[in-house]
Amino acid sequence: MNWEVVMGLEVHAELSTKSKIFCGCSTEFGGEPNTHVCPGCTGEPGVLPMLNKAVVEYAMRLGLTLDCDITRVNTFDRKNYFYPDLPKAWQTTQLYAPVCRNGSVGGIRLHQIHMEEDAGKLVHAPNGSAAYMDYNRSGTPLLEIVTKPDFRTTEQVLDFLETLRETLLYLDICDCKMQEGSLRCDVNLSVRPLGQAEFGTRTEMKNLNSFKAIARAIEYESKRHIDVITRGGQITQETRRWDDNKGKSMPMRNKENAQDYRYFPCPDVPPVIIDDAWLEQVRATLPELAAQKRERYIGEHGIAPKDAATITVHKTISVLFERLVELTGQPKEAANLITGELMRHLNNTGTLPEDLQVDAGKLAELINLVLTGKINRAAYKQTMHAVFGEDVQPMAYIEQNGLLMDDNSDAVAAAIAAALAANPKAIADYRGGNEKTFGFIMGQVMKELKGQGNPALVKPALEAALADC
Ligand code: ADP
Ligand code: MG
Ligand code: ZN
Repeated sequence: MNWEVVMGLEVHAELSTKSKIFCGCSTEFGGEPNTHVCPGCTGEPGVLPMLNKAVVEYAMRLGLTLDCDITRVNTFDRKNYFYPDLPKAWQTTQLYAPVCRNGSVGGIRLHQIHMEEDAGKLVHAPNGSAAYMDYNRSGTPLLEIVTKPDFRTTEQVLDFLETLRETLLYLDICDCKMQEGSLRCDVNLSVRPLGQAEFGTRTEMKNLNSFKAIARAIEYESKRHIDVITRGGQITQETRRWDDNKGKSMPMRNKENAQDYRYFPCPDVPPVIIDDAWLEQVRATLPELAAQKRERYIGEHGIAPKDAATITVHKTISVLFERLVELTGQPKEAANLITGELMRHLNNTGTLPEDLQVDAGKLAELINLVLTGKINRAAYKQTMHAVFGEDVQPMAYIEQNGLLMDDNSDAVAAAIAAALAANPKAIADYRGGNEKTFGFIMGQVMKELKGQGNPALVKPALEAALADC
């Protein structure tokens, strides 16, 4: 029997607003436990929420970009449950009027996007003797993006997440660090015999911390479903936890329908009206996205599609590229720098593009130095890595390390004389009409100059010397 896998995603994006969704506390990741908290974050009774306007605007940015219908009268609801990470005992979220509906990403339809608050974090003592609460994350703004059950393959899921990640990054609304939990994805999955119209019973998998884990989890869970059904069993609708070390999913809870949560409209947050003027104001600030940038780099700057893809892999990289183009007027040279030495540096040092710290002005200076023949390619690369690694001043580094091309015409003349004296056969060949030997002789002169020769000077001097001898 041929089986079809059906999936839908629930993606949580932590927003990069400075403050939380309902109070002024910082959203910064890390920090000593319980230092970014106020009585609201720790659920003390009587604290009233004050909605952060930026959260609504971030939701509008995403919704407008993904062609969603934007809800004009936004309300918030309480999702009630009891767990130590949620000291108020309800999560303020949007059930009845989510900020965005419909829309799509690369052919996958979105069900909705809603605003909500994150919970705190439970930290277990390593020996299991105690559990502690850190409420720094409590009240961090989230957008939950829910898709329709439109995925049939792992590849579609990963493509969707890659595009969504890119969009969130370019819109500057989420830093998308999966390892820090700022982008989290739950996979809902069911299987059905190919050709059957009805969907099968689904399970939802949580705790997927990387694209790789997602791919493995889908593989495992779809096999499990097919196995259970083939053996005459039934899939239980439940939430399962993916254990990436064991390579298995385990049941987590099986309650979870809307009634369990006793949702009701939150009386503390007044409705938020999005009028045309506000919507148009936000629309006017939407930046150029990765796909548009790629097209522009290819069309305007003649960059190869593969290189344009590398440059737009992260916003920090495309910002650097555009700055280099602005400073040097040399898009191809800038693209080569990024796809070559910069990528090598990131790989060698295990640096993530988002953590890259580099002074574009210094790299632009290096591009100008190599293009005007002041340094050769080897010195260019060496200095560039010193800029990446130790943030050196290019010119000071080049001088200290004797990397400036030798413009001393005495030294060039001496090197030419030495090379000519050492290679009588090549010279005879050249004069006999074999022009290919010129390159060889040129190489010998550069060797005499220990790689510091400036080809722009050496070449005409050597031509003149050969014509004379
Ligand atoms: P609930 O209201 O119980 O949270 P939803 O209808 O909102 O359920 O669906 C949650 C997620 O599960 C959505 O991403 C949806 O696309 C997906 N989904 C729903 N039914 C199925 C199914 N049978 N198989 C796979 N995914 C499904
Ligand atoms: Mg749901
Ligand atoms: Zn607070």
